[in-house]
Amino acid sequence: MAAANDLDLTFLGPYAMMLCMGRGYVNLLRSNRWRAFADGIKKERGYRCDYCGAVDRRVQAHHGFYRHGLKPWEYPKRSIWLACPESCHPRLDAARIAGVEMLGRVHPKDLGEVITYITHVSSRRSQPTAQSRH
Ligand SMILES: [Zn+2]
Repeated sequence: MAAANDLDLTFLGPYAMMLCMGRGYVNLLRSNRWRAFADGIKKERGYRCDYCGAVDRRVQAHHGFYRHGLKPWEYPKRSIWLACPESCHPRLDAARIAGVEMLGRVHPKDLGEVITYITHVSSRRSQPTAQSRH
């Protein structure tokens, strides 16, 4: 039986992870390195919320997924989404949790079909860059 520390709880989100794993991850979110990484993405994408399209300098960086052991700035930029702090970011956090739960209900023989669909949908849109913005 796996010890509690071996469980991958990263799908829960940073604040639940703090409760389960200590303050280490949240401290990384407070670090200058994370702020520089997130601020660079915000500036590059014009502070535009990927969910509702609003432009707001308070926009927050949302991790599309979590993987145990990765530092906040070690994720691919294309998995970082920008979201309004009060409305859109909580929706994206809830959607990430729901998505993991729903994927867990897919029969293993159907996972290939689901992954093919997700690959197709995720390639339809990419994050805007300063070069593509007019
Ligand atoms: Zn928004």
